[in-house]
Amino acid sequence: MNEFTRRSFLKQISAAGLSSFVVREPSWLFAEEVDQRWKGLSKLDGSLLLDEGHREQMATDFGANFHRVPLAVLKPRSTEDLVKIVRFANAQGLKIAMRGQGHSQYGQTLVEGGIVVDSRTLNGVKLGAGVVDAQGGASWEEVTRQTLAQGLTPPAMGDTMTLSVGGILSAGGISNSSHLFGAVVDTVEEVDVVTGAGDLLKCSAQRNRELFELALAGMGQCGLIESARLRLVTAPKWVVRRDLMYDDLGKFLGDARHLASEAKVEHLGALVLADQTRGWTFKITIGKFCESPEEADLRAVVADLRFKSSEDLMPVPFGLYLHREVARDTAAYAARKRTPSRALYITMFVPGSVGEEFVARILATPAETSGVTRFSLYLLPVQKFTRPMFMLPRREEFAQGLSAIRPFLLACRLGGPLRSNELAPARSGKEQIRPDGYSHARDRDVRGTAGSEAVAKPDAADGRERRVTKSTSG
Ligand SMILES: Cc1cc2nc3c(=O)[nH]c(=O)nc-3n(C[C@H](O)[C@H](O)[C@H](O)COP(=O)(O)OP(=O)(O)OC[C@H]3O[C@@H](n4cnc5c(N)ncnc54)[C@H](O)[C@@H]3O)c2cc1C
Repeated sequence: MNEFTRRSFLKQISAAGLSSFVVREPSWLFAEEVDQRWKGLSKLDGSLLLDEGHREQMATDFGANFHRVPLAVLKPRSTEDLVKIVRFANAQGLKIAMRGQGHSQYGQTLVEGGIVVDSRTLNGVKLGAGVVDAQGGASWEEVTRQTLAQGLTPPAMGDTMTLSVGGILSAGGISNSSHLFGAVVDTVEEVDVVTGAGDLLKCSAQRNRELFELALAGMGQCGLIESARLRLVTAPKWVVRRDLMYDDLGKFLGDARHLASEAKVEHLGALVLADQTRGWTFKITIGKFCESPEEADLRAVVADLRFKSSEDLMPVPFGLYLHREVARDTAAYAARKRTPSRALYITMFVPGSVGEEFVARILATPAETSGVTRFSLYLLPVQKFTRPMFMLPRREEFAQGLSAIRPFLLACRLGGPLRSNELAPARSGKEQIRPDGYSHARDRDVRGTAGSEAVAKPDAADGRERRVTKSTSG
């Protein structure tokens, strides 16, 4: 987390060699030159940064597909800062985008000539009775640090703890536990939202319900999520996992679906991998949450499954399990900084009944055409996904989520051209739903969206986890 202070700011600029840089009053406004426009903005608790260095930092995202330089970057320190900036932007006809960790890939947090709100300075986390209140810029790491200290956890969080609460709630949030809990947005009790008109509203299923439903999985188009109240459950102490290997797509998908409907495991991951010698291979990872590793018996769970071989993973404490993707995410982020290149992850949802045919078509397509060499699958029981903005094919019991990296061709075929998300000020929440046309695709069977719900779901078992047993089965 970058704590921004005036001192660290000055340190940064001198490190960047900007010795001629002049910081002007008022003290919360940092600029080479303050033009007339900003004089109408009343005092902020945080900082408004107009210098090139900070604007450049917010000009691209994880995907690096676009470069859009904002006019200003707000590092808010209070809810009032959000209200003030939205009202100010309305008066000036400027657009606003809220940014969490910037892991989106298709420019959703970028706003050319507008204001980017860097939410990371709004990262408060407060525990209540059976709930936690987290500000939009808090990371899931920060949230669980506090909840786990009390033996509690949100039931669903996404698989990457470095992402922001506001970012995941805007995307919807799927994880290896979605077959049990639905999307992360399904576990939210209340959100405080700053609307496009600059009003702060408390929203829940009972109060301001329409805005509540539009803000969750709304990709920042229907308001800024200032904070969210998340339900908590008792945290397990251990997680015991096993990898199941397949060489047959039908058996792999059939078993994944069986496991999702049986709901006997808390962790369910399904991965399709290109193997240089064996072609495509398939892996399901199952995991049980438990009080002690001895009490989890996975034998009964796998008894009827049709995998070829299996491997037990080392049992891990729950806190460590939650961080299973952090090292990979940090490494990927560092690599992308060292060697910037364009990337696009995509998550698409297809009806369960056509899932196998759909995957088979991808596997039959040469990787240089499909752009896909590995992808994750999620078997999602649609009745668990209750938020209207988290759109799934609803006609069947299951939807199949597919997450892959670099599928440019699929993105074009399924989703058509995609645009960035910018909160257009001075319009009501209702009018601002998804400018990419995604929301109008309700009746299509196959939907795709890029960046926003993009999920890297690499092999859950990273190199650090020692396998302890191996077995083979039909
Ligand atoms: C390595 C990697 C791993 C990922 N893992 C998962 C995963 O496990 N599960 C999953 O569902 N997704 C995952 N994603 C996709 C991810 O959910 C989205 O990209 C998510 O939005 C990223 O969070 P962020 O904090 O980086 O958000 P950003 O990229 O900063 O923002 C994403 C969107 O949310 C909006 N937004 C951000 N904060 C707010 C706020 N407070 N109020 C209103 N709007 C806001 C932005 O304007 C933007 O439209 C992953 C992506 C990557 C690259």
